[in-house]
Amino acid sequence: MLDLSRRRFVVSTGLAAAFGLNSRLAISPAFAQKTPDPPKGFYQYKVGSVEVTALYDGIWEKPHDPAFIKNASVEETVEALRTAGLPTDFVSIPLTVLVVTFNGKHILIDSGSGGQWQPTAGKLHANMKAAGIDPAKIRTILISHFHPDHIFGLMEKGTNKPVWPDAELIVSASEYKWWTEAGRVEKLPEARKPLGHRINTVFPTWKNFTLIEGEREVAPGIQLVSAPGHTPGHSAFLIGSGNQQLMVSNDTAYVPALLAPHPDWQGAYDQDGPLAVKTRKAMLDRVIAEKMMICGAHFPFPGAGTFTKDAPGYAFVPVAA
Ligand SMILES: [Zn+2]
Repeated sequence: MLDLSRRRFVVSTGLAAAFGLNSRLAISPAFAQKTPDPPKGFYQYKVGSVEVTALYDGIWEKPHDPAFIKNASVEETVEALRTAGLPTDFVSIPLTVLVVTFNGKHILIDSGSGGQWQPTAGKLHANMKAAGIDPAKIRTILISHFHPDHIFGLMEKGTNKPVWPDAELIVSASEYKWWTEAGRVEKLPEARKPLGHRINTVFPTWKNFTLIEGEREVAPGIQLVSAPGHTPGHSAFLIGSGNQQLMVSNDTAYVPALLAPHPDWQGAYDQDGPLAVKTRKAMLDRVIAEKMMICGAHFPFPGAGTFTKDAPGYAFVPVAA
């Protein structure tokens, strides 16, 4: 997901309180969030001997927009949401970030929105601390792609100062090169230029940056899986431990309520729609064939589950949280 909301929000402290939202949100000139936060903003599970902690960053209650799905109408989108049992007056796009822990070492996968994407997100650090993980202990960060909800947590608002200045950032070379090649920012659509500027301000001077060519192990038991289409170098990460595997799919199938039954739908944020569809189907076929668990950044929190084939598409079966 790329967009930064430009909407103005109406204060509705009564509504916020009615939905059990925290008092800070209720008293700030904030968004009348309709979706309650999960009662607990973190969820821990095991993949073999690896501990995975899913951390809730927040949600984008995206207004309907005919341009959101290139090859489906708003009516079809609403119908898919209704079938999935989700609210139909907006598209629910939650954001979940992972910490993977083994041998006492924490690896962060993507950085959340840093409170700079939607007014209803930016809860990563609070939930990380609630899960007993000290943010200062994060030394390695794997990045799936350079959209705001995945990288703005690396940059302080206003100053662009690195949030984890000593951490090693690991990203596919193709993603990095596409966004930072000479003349790229000028070629971006107007709405994406600020993002391009930020990327080109922060990343080339990051102290410890590792670019990965192709698919290979990026940390013990974690393989980078090329998953292009959403962005040119969009990556998934495959965690394997013992006889268990978890495909960290990031934005390959971002909202299962829409894209499981309709894997051919092309989101406006899929930079190369046909390639995103091809990558999505190949990944879902793989996780089904290899009986893997899968998680996604925009799956319903805690963001993990399995897929089954449900012709002509797929069905998502979330873990029982
Ligand atoms: Zn996203």
